[in-house]
Amino acid sequence: MYNILTEIQTAPLPESRNKWRGRVPNWDQYNEEKWHRIYMIPHQCTKETKLRALQYKILHSSVATNSQLHRIGFVQSDLCTFCQRERETIDHLFVQCTHINILWTDLQSWLSRNLQRPDNQINFSSEDIFFGRLNYDELINNIILLTKHYIAYMPVNSMDQSQMLLEK
Ligand SMILES: [Zn+2]
Repeated sequence: MYNILTEIQTAPLPESRNKWRGRVPNWDQYNEEKWHRIYMIPHQCTKETKLRALQYKILHSSVATNSQLHRIGFVQSDLCTFCQRERETIDHLFVQCTHINILWTDLQSWLSRNLQRPDNQINFSSEDIFFGRLNYDELINNIILLTKHYIAYMPVNSMDQSQMLLEK
């Protein structure tokens, strides 16, 4: 584990990180040290290959969203799977979609109620959702990544069911 982290810390940063310019607030604060920490998060918060692979795709902006699949003629519509109103980009799918927003809001309330944390209130910024939290909160980062995997691979009609589960 230590070797992997050392390798990541010293490896050259992928150029694809520049695709995030203008998509996250405070872009000027994204220095090399911050990016190295961001790239380490999926190695620290999970051992699941499928979760690490998804986060790697998100970081490289290479998730197969409907807008990408539409461009190569793979699907008929570039609209969002959930709201059917906006183009399905990575930013829309994981953060901006009103349907997905409800899921994040419910999850934050559920976590705030059920995790015994001193601040008692858990809020995710768009950066937390895209990259994970930089305070090395492994449990929260694991839950955020699991939720993104759920969103990316969820059958559309199970959305109502997921809200019911969170309400219990
Ligand atoms: Zn949507």
